[in-house]
Amino acid sequence: MPIQVCVRTRPTARFADHAIQVHDDRKTLTVRLPKADNPNAQDAWTWRFDGVLHNASQETLYHEQVAPLVADVLRGVNGTVLCYGQTGAGKTFTQLGSTDHYHNRGVIPRALAHLFSHLQEHPQLEASVRASYVEIHNDALVDLLAALPSEAPAAEALHLFEDKAGATHVKGLRCEEVRSEEEALHLLFEGQNHRAVAHHQLNRHSTRGHSVFTLHLRVRSRVESSGVVKVSKLHLVDLAGSERLKKTDTMGELRAESMYINRSLSYLEQVVVALSSKGRAHTPYRQSKLTFLLKDSLGGNCKTLLIANVYGEEQHLEETVSTLQFAARVRLVPNEATVNQQEDPELLLKKYAAQVADLKRELAM
Ligand code: ADP
Ligand code: MG
Repeated sequence: MPIQVCVRTRPTARFADHAIQVHDDRKTLTVRLPKADNPNAQDAWTWRFDGVLHNASQETLYHEQVAPLVADVLRGVNGTVLCYGQTGAGKTFTQLGSTDHYHNRGVIPRALAHLFSHLQEHPQLEASVRASYVEIHNDALVDLLAALPSEAPAAEALHLFEDKAGATHVKGLRCEEVRSEEEALHLLFEGQNHRAVAHHQLNRHSTRGHSVFTLHLRVRSRVESSGVVKVSKLHLVDLAGSERLKKTDTMGELRAESMYINRSLSYLEQVVVALSSKGRAHTPYRQSKLTFLLKDSLGGNCKTLLIANVYGEEQHLEETVSTLQFAARVRLVPNEATVNQQEDPELLLKKYAAQVADLKRELAM
């Protein structure tokens, strides 16, 4: 199943509707650029996505695009929601939402509510949910749940590795058990505070890093003695701004930072290009922390949704086109998501204990 891709436009009174046309099917989009000096340059594109959300509420976005994926995560399927787009286009609004209004809650708080209410409504399910929150900044991993950014383990203490099944994990990352929606939200806000403090201390910019909030689930049935536990994870990713660096814009440290972002997003593009072109044997996941961390999400065992956040204003058309070109490419990436189940270790232990007891009885006879 290919990666699912939807486009979300940022609401504006100055929507360039002569240039951007959302078709009636709410899936197709045409963008026309003003005629360039070069008469051979392409100036109109039409793409079909899995949804074009124009002036859509957080509720609509969650309900139409994200809820089915979270329902699958509860069944043992890995899930990833990625927000991609230029700075200011609405990635953080989509992923986290704003705190001004309850109905402006974003994907993460809604996914938490969805998850925990499902578990509450199904008391026959026994679940363990753990959360981790990591930022990738200048190709280094930062644990946003570690005590305080300044006291956090050095980035080198965290490292990415692949298990025997090819899934990636971050060694050394704090992964905290959360028993309710409130506990999970608490951790999320703690992580965001740490992020803000770190950015302040190190003079970083929040749009210059990628952040990944992950929920790790283990679910089993209390009633059926099927002997299996379903294991899945849900990555909720707010990517750094995708705008290309203009030489005159930035200098010094900021410039180095932009270069890293451009580089890590180019590596992401390279992975997407490799995966979307048939016959390419090698996918360069290991070129950057971002693509290595998201290996399962890109072309792997995961159900992935990319939300392309775009501006609708005239002055952003070029960035909008480049975001949509990337998004269209991502839609060609095939993923293969399966239900992940393991033999339940507790049941296994019980089985062994029973066998031992049997043996002892036999010996005593
Ligand atoms: P990004 O994370 O992509 O840089 P933000 O999510 O921070 O962009 O959005 C920039 C501003 O626009 C914020 O003030 C945000 O609240 C607002 N905004 C973005 N998308 C929407 C939307 N769909 N509805 C209302 N406000 C939005
Ligand atoms: Mg942001």
